[in-house]
Amino acid sequence: RAKEIGRDAMQIFTAEMANRASEKLERQEELRRALAQQELFLQYQPQMDLSTGRIFAVEALIRWRHPERGLVAPGDFIPLAEETGLIGPIGDWTLRAACRQNKAWQVSGLPSIVVSVNVSARQFQEKDWVERVAAALEESGLDACYLELELTESMIMQDVQQAVETMHRLEKLGVHLAIDDFGTGYSSLASLKRFPVGRLKIDRSFVQDLPADEDDAAIARAVISLAHSLQLRVIAEGVETRDQIDFLREAGCDEIQGYYLSRPIDARALQAILCIPNL
Ligand code: C2E
Ligand code: MG
Ligand code: MG
Ligand code: MG
Repeated sequence: RAKEIGRDAMQIFTAEMANRASEKLERQEELRRALAQQELFLQYQPQMDLSTGRIFAVEALIRWRHPERGLVAPGDFIPLAEETGLIGPIGDWTLRAACRQNKAWQVSGLPSIVVSVNVSARQFQEKDWVERVAAALEESGLDACYLELELTESMIMQDVQQAVETMHRLEKLGVHLAIDDFGTGYSSLASLKRFPVGRLKIDRSFVQDLPADEDDAAIARAVISLAHSLQLRVIAEGVETRDQIDFLREAGCDEIQGYYLSRPIDARALQAILCIPNL
């Protein structure tokens, strides 16, 4: 009897696994098609310099317009893309699209801004990654100083030596580097000093309960002072309220990004914002 139950359970188990595997294959196929059929697109979220009120940069954020499921957020397909290796072609597409769009804004006479692109660990670790970045710049005609790459602590802490080397090659191209979601990973101060990055992005989780949460207030202040002592600029992500801005300004934070200023929006809508001299 026990054996029988065991066998039945085993069959259910394997059937379930097979189901899940085929579902995953299906999703993967869908994602491959999405790239080929131009269902992926970028939205842009402005970043403001607190001392001038100027929009000086935008972060490019990928979206998937799924024919049946509607708008799919990156959190629901980037992990699959990373797992299956599709992040290679998708990442290349993102980089190229962002560079092309930024160049188009410049050509249309808008004030020049930096476009910031998220990079996943697998992309960053590709041997020809730096060449791919160079190719995207070359192809779009965008000057490297108008491109920033957002890296995360975990991806650069995996192999510090290798990461520093890649970052130096990127720096040589002239692109800017930032550390995204700062504070959520683990970077030693010693390695942080070695990374040729221009700015830190304080993770939204430390911003959302400002100014009331005393721990978060202390963390935000500490990150700002750490950044400044390393000669880096610091931006707060996920800023939604006036009170948060007041706190951040008072704490010496350089820049902000978040719904308070604007949600991520289409290229055309962003263009209208760029025409406003100061917000
Ligand atoms: P991230 O790079 O930290 O991007 C910030 C996320 O916070 C975005 O979510 C943005 O829409 C959201 N956000 C911005 N301001 C606010 C705010 O005031 N309140 C709240 N609640 N949320 C805010 P999104 O677009 O869903 O992207 C999630 C993550 O997916 C990104 O986190 C990034 O890690 C990843 N991602 C997005 N685009 C790409 C891409 O092109 N390539 C790769 N590899 N990853 C991407
Ligand atoms: Mg980011
Ligand atoms: Mg972030
Ligand atoms: Mg994040």
